[in-house]
Amino acid sequence: MSVALILAAKGHDVTTTQPHRTLQEATALLAEKGIGAVIVTGGNGEVLGILSERDIVRAVGRHGVGALQESVSKYMTSKVVTTGMDEAIDHVMEQMTAGRFRHLPVIHNGKLVGVVSIGDVVKHRIDAIESEHRALREYIATA
Ligand code: AMP
Repeated sequence: MSVALILAAKGHDVTTTQPHRTLQEATALLAEKGIGAVIVTGGNGEVLGILSERDIVRAVGRHGVGALQESVSKYMTSKVVTTGMDEAIDHVMEQMTAGRFRHLPVIHNGKLVGVVSIGDVVKHRIDAIESEHRALREYIATA
């Protein structure tokens, strides 16, 4: 089971922002889209960082609400861990657990083509377990 399978189900939409935008703008974007993180991209669509709700909470907790007027670049994580279309979902889970984060941008042929969140992974696992149970029940009923 690969990342490509998750993206085929959820789509390739990626919500991005730019480094010069304010935390206030990024916060509004997260609220509007109902998501937990935005990918920060440069002029050529290259990944420069990731900003999650946790970064915003940390910024406001440490510096007060004034931090909301500061730039995304100041609070984003620049060293972004990414994954690829062919990567196994088990590996994605390991990366999220080891890195203690819940979002992984997907890069294909050098381009940002999607984002996998921990919610996507959990949904995928539950779907897989349910279809396994269904198959077992059918097998038992017809045996
Ligand atoms: P999250 O659990 O995704 O809300 O993120 C928790 C922390 O990890 C935040 O500081 C994020 O900026 C950072 N983070 C989230 N995703 C990644 C990633 N793929 N690579 C590196 N850092 C990340």
